[in-house]
Amino acid sequence: MQPIIPYYGSVTKCEEVPITFPPQHQNRQPGLEYMMNPLPIYDNPNYIGTGKLKHKTAIITGGDSGIGRAIAVAFAKEGANSVLVYLNEEQDARATKEAVEKLGRKSLLLPIDLREKKAAEQIIAQTLKAFGSINILVNNAGVQFPQPSIEKITDQQLETTFDVNIQSFFRLTRAVVPYLRSGDSIINTTSVQAYAGSGQLIDYASTKGAIVSFTRALAHNLAGKGIRVNAIAPGPIWTPLQPASWSAETVKTLGANTPMKRSGQPYELAPAYVLLASEDGSYITGQTIHVNGGQTMTS
Ligand code: NAD
Ligand code: MG
Repeated sequence: MQPIIPYYGSVTKCEEVPITFPPQHQNRQPGLEYMMNPLPIYDNPNYIGTGKLKHKTAIITGGDSGIGRAIAVAFAKEGANSVLVYLNEEQDARATKEAVEKLGRKSLLLPIDLREKKAAEQIIAQTLKAFGSINILVNNAGVQFPQPSIEKITDQQLETTFDVNIQSFFRLTRAVVPYLRSGDSIINTTSVQAYAGSGQLIDYASTKGAIVSFTRALAHNLAGKGIRVNAIAPGPIWTPLQPASWSAETVKTLGANTPMKRSGQPYELAPAYVLLASEDGSYITGQTIHVNGGQTMTS
């Protein structure tokens, strides 16, 4: 079956969403968005903001690129300022800041290693200094290092994957919660890997499963304060994580194994984050939204 080629954009500027990709690999993680070909699509011009996040401040980890960049842009369209936490991808971060500022909102760049125990304190201090409040926390930073077997996963890899993918979520959330008020929201990026699993991502899938359980338990704990906690589980999405972690050959057909026979683009995730961050999601807590081209239907 041929994939249906989707289009996005306006009638005057209509572009095709790519189905296959030129082979490419980046020898570093985090990967760099500006080095990707084609560039990921992080903004849908047909998405018009209506002030759903007016006067809100969002902390977005991994906000420089990929899914995080699309979230920052959609949040800006809805009126939110953002704090973008990332490891060291300066050029990507500056491009995201520019995109946010073009939409009339502010963006603070914080290159901070989330593996550092003091990272959470620094992020909060800088956020409060710049914006005076925190309303939305998007825990979204992540790494993945595919290996052919469990024996190949070293202690060092295991520690890095757990440290970035779940321990940093835990530490930052613990530090942010005292500043949140009724109506505020926490959103955690998990993965289809928490549900479908993959033989090459055993440690990564384990952290993503932990994020789902973290989300549910915390949602119970914070419901009485009016703070909602949810997760998004993306399927294969065209972001720097892909060429940075898979071989050049593998990325060519990213997403071909989904029922929709293509990968998703970052802009296709953003509206789900807006839903969970805004009043539109006021009766949703402890849940995971699956944005995965139907992948878990077949797994
Ligand atoms: P991405 O590379 O654009 O984003 C990951 C971000 O994590 C990077 O920008 C990087 O700055 C940040 N990061 C990594 N290590 C860090 C550290 N030590 N300190 C601070 N920041 C650090 O790729 P993405 O695909 O947009 O990833 C965002 C989230 O989506 C991740 O949690 C990933 O696991 C999840 N996800 C992605 C896919 C996909 O197909 N792309 C699928 C499911 C889940
Ligand atoms: Mg990045």
